[in-house]
Amino acid sequence: MGAGTHCPYCALQCAMTLTATDDATAPIAVAGRDFPTNRGGLCKKGWTSAELLAAPSRLTAPLVREPDGSLRETTWDAALDLVAERLRGIRSEHGADAVGVFGGGGLTNEKAYLLGKFARLALGTSRIDYNGRYCMSSAAAAGNRAFGVDRGLPFPLADLDDGTTILLLGTNVAETMPPFIGHLAGAQAAGGLIVVDPRRTATARLTDDGQGLHVQPAPGTDLMLLLGLAHVVIAERLVDEDYVAARTSGFAALRRSVAQWWPERVQSVTGVPAATVRAIARRLAAGGRTFILTGRGVEQHVDGTDTATAAINLALLLGLPGRPGSGYGTLTGQGNGQGGREHGQKCDQLPGYRKITDPAARAHVARVWGVDAAEIPGPGLPAIELLGSLGRPDGVRALLVHGSNLVVSSPNVADVRRGIERLDLLVVCDFVLSETAALADVVLPVLQWAEEEGTMTNLEGRVIRRRRALAPPAGARDELWILHELARRLGSAARFDTDAETVFEELRLASEGGIADYSGIDYALLDSDVEAYWPFPRGGAGTPRLFAERFHHDDGLARLVAVAPRAGAHPAPSSDEVTLVTGRLLEHYQSGAQTRRVPELLDAQPEARAAIHPATAARLGIADDEPVEVANGRGTVRCRARLTTDIRTDAVFLPFHYGDEQAANLLTSDAVDPISSMPEFKANLVRVTRLVEA
Ligand code: SF4
Repeated sequence: MGAGTHCPYCALQCAMTLTATDDATAPIAVAGRDFPTNRGGLCKKGWTSAELLAAPSRLTAPLVREPDGSLRETTWDAALDLVAERLRGIRSEHGADAVGVFGGGGLTNEKAYLLGKFARLALGTSRIDYNGRYCMSSAAAAGNRAFGVDRGLPFPLADLDDGTTILLLGTNVAETMPPFIGHLAGAQAAGGLIVVDPRRTATARLTDDGQGLHVQPAPGTDLMLLLGLAHVVIAERLVDEDYVAARTSGFAALRRSVAQWWPERVQSVTGVPAATVRAIARRLAAGGRTFILTGRGVEQHVDGTDTATAAINLALLLGLPGRPGSGYGTLTGQGNGQGGREHGQKCDQLPGYRKITDPAARAHVARVWGVDAAEIPGPGLPAIELLGSLGRPDGVRALLVHGSNLVVSSPNVADVRRGIERLDLLVVCDFVLSETAALADVVLPVLQWAEEEGTMTNLEGRVIRRRRALAPPAGARDELWILHELARRLGSAARFDTDAETVFEELRLASEGGIADYSGIDYALLDSDVEAYWPFPRGGAGTPRLFAERFHHDDGLARLVAVAPRAGAHPAPSSDEVTLVTGRLLEHYQSGAQTRRVPELLDAQPEARAAIHPATAARLGIADDEPVEVANGRGTVRCRARLTTDIRTDAVFLPFHYGDEQAANLLTSDAVDPISSMPEFKANLVRVTRLVEA
């Protein structure tokens, strides 16, 4: 019998069964397994996920940088001794905050938890953050502000099945998590699927044949569209007044803030016809089972928190959150993007989604860790500021990276790369030589998902088991063991267990009483039929649906928060510019470090292609398949053009899965949202020119 586990990639966490084979080149066979999110289905990435296990590109021995610049294999003892010695030296010369840690939203809950503890106790640094800052931070900030809690979907995904109207804002689930679209079939059949995206994506095409509506606002104008929808709902008396009166605060200020966003004005800014704005608002308010869902397309902006807040405002005006068969949610992207933001990888956070500045939270976690609360450092720096400090005199001099490919996935990557080159020490834990690992002084090869035990928390806030299906290669090690060994070498008195279940038992205690309370969950329960949605208090039950009775603010009310566009947040393109939109392809995941090493996936999408509207291409003198340069003041991407009517004439699309001169993030801005510190990934001005080859 095979091991029941879940896909290593996205937050849908499709269930699969892994069965060992006798084939050394393909040691594991993958089969989809019935589960409420995927119902047995997998996408291409899931079906091919086992291919990396025995790939020749797999790292199986630690690597250290030689004086001649090459990376040489070494033993684990030699590598760990070297890292510990260098960390001690940098710490004693420059202070504890000269050492930084960068985590990832794909790490198991156990690794994310132990990494936060390791940074704060073994290293004594406040300088820890993670790549979820690039992913869910705006949606998380908006959820915390409005509801007092951040759980991506506050209801089971299967609730969408009965939806009659579903508004999808900036999410291309048909490519990012294909089995998800099975949950949209009901709304499609009811003609109620509404997709907002500047591109005619595979998800937008689900609305063809009268099964819904696709609108293509100008990039960076989602906030104005949402303000316009709220305007219509209020102006046409479509507000659920009883709900707003009983369950929210802030209506008067919100009403004033949207008064100026009448549909014709929204049309002039977004390009969405005023009649369409009215029609969407009326459809959303028409009763039935209505959901509003946001994704990175509307969140990865310098005003991402306000945009997600505007979507929540709209949902609250309509009385959706907490109403059976309706709701608002945000679609988490990374595999453990939910759990990864709950257990202390964030610079301002302790386990259980506790605030690091809260004295009671510090006291609780200090008790679990067996230290004085004063030993836990205060808040550190969010990702962009942390990376901006690399190699600076008062900045981070040594960086430990777990589960992240910084020089592909960070905004303004050329600047991040320059920071990395200034470091005294870069240590990367990975199982392939990613673009970031290739720059490291020490590379520590780690296990892959099918070789380890642990837990993940999917996009519904449901905690699930990851199970070992085969033995790892001799030279690879579990990150829990690596943290244990480094802490021991650094002389830490704190406990760093190496067994995932033991670490989870400690995580339960640390989370107890917090917002993300896991204290009632253990591995035995996860092996049973019980559905483990947090909060799941000790001796209690899980919580599939939040907000039925109250929201998580002390007064039980949700907050309607008046938001407004900021001047200059999204300048319109000049006559020789277009707006760059970045995003994903069906075949690749995140920075592509994994999926570009799977032959079927790479063959299908071997390189970045700039998607340009034929009318724009004609104006620029570019033909299909021709080499182009996409450039702005931060950098230049060289790739080939793909002409398509699926994109607006004022925009160009680049996938962000590629490195080096095809890295879309050479062009993205590290300007951040003032609340969430989310960078601007989705609307950056560029020029596109035909590349004249020498
Ligand atoms: Fe499912 Fe996502 Fe894995 Fe595809 S990548 S199989 S959608 S979990």
